[in-house]
Amino acid sequence: MTKDLVGHYIGGRSVVEGDRRGPVFNPALGEEVRQVAFADGDTVGAAVDAAEAAQAGWGEESLARRQRVMFAYRDLLQRNSDRIVAAVGEEHGKVAGDAAGEFARGVEVVEFACSLPQVLKGQFSESVSRGVDAYTLRFPLGVVAGITPFNFPAMVPLWMAPIALAAGNGFVLKPSEKVPSAAVLLAELFVEAGGPPGLFNVVQGDQEAVAEILGHPKIKAVSFVGSTAVARSIYERGTQAGKRVQALGGAKNHMVVLPDADPELVSDSAVAAAFGSSGERCMAISVMVIVGEQGEKHLDAIAAKMEGVRVGSALDPRAEMGPLITAAHRERVGSLVAEAEAKGANILVDGRKHAMAGGPGFFFGPTLIDGVTVEMEAYRQEIFGPVLLVMRARDLGEAIELVNRNPYANGAAIFTESGGAARRFVRTIDSGMVGVNVPIPVPVAYHSFGGFKNSLFGDLHVHGEEGFRFYTRAKAVTQRWGGEGSAATLHFVTNN
Ligand code: NAD
Repeated sequence: MTKDLVGHYIGGRSVVEGDRRGPVFNPALGEEVRQVAFADGDTVGAAVDAAEAAQAGWGEESLARRQRVMFAYRDLLQRNSDRIVAAVGEEHGKVAGDAAGEFARGVEVVEFACSLPQVLKGQFSESVSRGVDAYTLRFPLGVVAGITPFNFPAMVPLWMAPIALAAGNGFVLKPSEKVPSAAVLLAELFVEAGGPPGLFNVVQGDQEAVAEILGHPKIKAVSFVGSTAVARSIYERGTQAGKRVQALGGAKNHMVVLPDADPELVSDSAVAAAFGSSGERCMAISVMVIVGEQGEKHLDAIAAKMEGVRVGSALDPRAEMGPLITAAHRERVGSLVAEAEAKGANILVDGRKHAMAGGPGFFFGPTLIDGVTVEMEAYRQEIFGPVLLVMRARDLGEAIELVNRNPYANGAAIFTESGGAARRFVRTIDSGMVGVNVPIPVPVAYHSFGGFKNSLFGDLHVHGEEGFRFYTRAKAVTQRWGGEGSAATLHFVTNN
């Protein structure tokens, strides 16, 4: 039987070109459900040409018209949420409530993008010198591209596309080949909302498509989200090719628990943030650092709550946690748990033994490991699975030092009732996003998302005002009208 094929979306229509293909799995079944076309240089070139042609008119459109399209896009997305949530659930495996949550956070970025006339306002300084005014205007870059990971098939593309488009650019999206369908829906709905066909294109594929994007001279900027090794390489290759690049990488997020923290909030937060989406979130809590003498109260409560986590497929309305993305990834998570165990860690809850872990679906049960040390690979690497590591620190200073020594720096959270301790943490922790009694501090759309160190290569974070700055360039104009103070001089011009 011929399997469905997910194609590209170029110039406002579905396109299938070339003969390279990849499999798309339903991870809950452990079965290939369709295939996806892989773009080559010609396909990427066609997408860039379409984006360039559409951008020429769009970049000249009034702010009002662009804003209306963004409002219409927001409404259409809402009306089609079920289709997108279903595509995410089938190809990624996350449960329906979680998929709906990521979609809602993505739509928030579209809502923020609707404020484009406000955000794109220039600056004006009157009379910087006699008869001279100065002002700054922001212009779109032209054609920009986004390369996205498997773990947020809708939200991460929506971190990029709405801002890039609202700022007046054409956009080429290369989603993860593991979850190709949601991206096509997002692009189709933009055209249905009145966006010019060709402005928002999707090219499916693997490294070859990425190389074509990085090598294409008409692509002026690249936003990337994925693992650290790839993010670093995209940043280096993209900037060498003269492009503006923001490349968000992996993470190892710590949750520091002080003795005065609310125990109920601690255990609820740890379970939700470590095991939601099977730990396949760049803001998942991976390490809990217990500060001082607190006995085993948190671990007992967390282990008890883990028993109640219902593991199942996206089609099970009561399921809270789905499978991992591939069989190979399940193997990798299992081997990191085995390595920690072999090095003396204490496996308090073992996801390898979960009832669902032996089936054809790529399930792995929630796992809790105490006695973890910084030498263990489970600590050194991003696990990206439902595994919570537990470490100890004598005091807050030691906990902060531990977190700050880690090469990743996406998010970090503190749980405490002390304002002074929280303030010290916020000021000294070396992470891009910080939570105070909030385990997953993903910024709202009108702030910007991004980490430090190995979690982000580049300068500007995504969405919020930094997103608009990333996708525009500023022109500073100095003007004189009316002949006032016009005497020319060979000296370097000063203001008076
Ligand atoms: P990945 O790096 O394997 O893939 C990301 C994208 O890059 C995909 O589109 C993929 O096709 C492409 N790609 C993969 N290997 C490549 C290569 N060698 N050369 C060029 N392109 C390549 O990441 P993933 O497994 O899809 O996603 C999970 C990772 O993404 C985790 O590390 C997670 O922490 C990270 N992530 C980070 C953030 C963040 O905001 N910092 C958000 C979500 C996910």
